Amino acid sequence: MPADCLFCRIVAGEIPAARLHQDDLVIAIRDINPQAPTHVLVLPVRHVASAAELGDDDGALLGRLFGVAAVLAAREGLGNGWRLVTNVGTDGGQSVDHLHLHLLGGRAMGWPPG
Ligand code: 5GP
Ligand code: ZN
Repeated sequence: MPADCLFCRIVAGEIPAARLHQDDLVIAIRDINPQAPTHVLVLPVRHVASAAELGDDDGALLGRLFGVAAVLAAREGLGNGWRLVTNVGTDGGQSVDHLHLHLLGGRAMGWPPG
């Protein structure tokens, strides 16, 4: 793991976070700066820099990331709908270089995003 990766340090328990889920492949935490009433980050336990690194071998991981997001969306009461976003690189607005899905809900989302 890159020693300076914030989310690897959260996975390792070196930095505290409000954990909503943990299994062998993924964890889910509340975003420290929520952009919606529900703002959860679902991320792989192993370091993956971004969605740009994903390929055919990552099907199990992707299924788990999306599956956990769906379970948490239901648990958070987001029956009216929700959004999953993953930012990639500078133009995508990525600020932490460890793959994560933003699960956003609890308000109506605008489109197109900023
Ligand atoms: P990105 O900008 O890479 O798509 O998303 C990174 C997210 O991580 C941001 O929404 C930001 O608020 C969140 N974040 C940054 N530092 C921390 C932290 O220390 N703990 C938690 N829980 N979230 C963080
Ligand atoms: Zn990492």
